[in-house]
Amino acid sequence: MRESALYGTYARQPLAFERGEGCWIETADGDRYLDFAAGIAVNSLGHAHPHLVAALTEQAGKLWHVSNVYEIPGQARLGERLAENSFADKVFFTNSGAEALECAIKTARRYHHVNGHPERYRVITFEGAFHGRTLATIAAGGQAKYLEGFGPKVEGFDQVPFDDTEALLKTIGPETAAILVEPIQGEGGVRPIPNASLRRLRELCDRHGLLLILDEVQSGVGRTGKLFAHEWAEITPDLMAVAKGIGGGFPLGACLATAEAAKGMTPGTHGTTFGGNPLAMAVGNAVLDVVLEDGFMESISKKGLLFKQSLAAVADEFPDIVEGVRGEGLMLGIKCRVQNLRLLEALRDQKMLVVPAGDNVLRLLPPLIITEDEIREAVKRIHDAAAAVRATEKADA
Ligand SMILES: *Cc1c(COP(=O)(O)O)cnc(C)c1O
Repeated sequence: MRESALYGTYARQPLAFERGEGCWIETADGDRYLDFAAGIAVNSLGHAHPHLVAALTEQAGKLWHVSNVYEIPGQARLGERLAENSFADKVFFTNSGAEALECAIKTARRYHHVNGHPERYRVITFEGAFHGRTLATIAAGGQAKYLEGFGPKVEGFDQVPFDDTEALLKTIGPETAAILVEPIQGEGGVRPIPNASLRRLRELCDRHGLLLILDEVQSGVGRTGKLFAHEWAEITPDLMAVAKGIGGGFPLGACLATAEAAKGMTPGTHGTTFGGNPLAMAVGNAVLDVVLEDGFMESISKKGLLFKQSLAAVADEFPDIVEGVRGEGLMLGIKCRVQNLRLLEALRDQKMLVVPAGDNVLRLLPPLIITEDEIREAVKRIHDAAAAVRATEKADA
């Protein structure tokens, strides 16, 4: 047989799905899985949400793409709504998280450039960070495994240990432009930055004339029970990257900015062919219709609490398998005592999907529309998977 024509860049699981509905996805053979991966926090409203399907198909019959050479009314509307519901005055639409971060980094550098400080271009980031896979965002993330073999690391990123203010203070210099941080590290293992530390970052940025860039590609759009996770700390950034959940499965990202931070982004300074096209805007607006409904955020917090408490009981029963549970809302992580992929495989045997992360964590990122019954079902499957792993551990010993 001919080898796959696809790049070998993914260690894919041996599963292919054909359809989905809500929190469930189904293979061609009719095997149903409980989906707590949600396309890595992307399917915020689950699969085949009727409102999203209607918005996309309606737009598909009218107009797909015109390019940013023309006015795009859906873009103006989604931008306006994002601004109204956040710190931002200005929005730039992209197709992905990495592009949203590229825009944020460029915006921060331009800000200092037009302020007469072109020497201020360096961005401070944190160990364990993940900001995407472009050349600049792998430099920002600073992870050796993603940088290796791709030539010189893009210049201008300084990394400090996670949540280490002392190291941060020593790193701020006359060339520093911004601090870039995920309020909750996703790939890094569902590691929340304490609210007090986020506030301190805000203060430091103000004191040193730096821009605070938040990467809310994973934590944003309701995932933690607030529209954006930084709201828990009662601070606002100058720039923010959003993607994943905002498109509900349609490729869509956005860079949000204050008017001040974005003042250098004048005509011709940045652009994209596909970003913000009518299809993406129809879906993005439809996602906001649902997540901005009264009570939606509160329901996420309530369900998240139920889930976290139930998981804590599983952790108590299986201290040999589960070290602890962390995260906020419906962005939770199980820190494993056994290798995380063993629990992931045991969960797959239980027909439940989750996502691995750094620090030996499994991420639980269900669609935000999940029901309490489905959470109970998930907890049961996690319980049974932990029991299965324990049984094989015993057999191996
Ligand atoms: C997924 C992710 C990205 C990259 O998004 P892409 O759409 O894959 O480019 C950046 N930052 C964070 C926090 C992410 O979770």
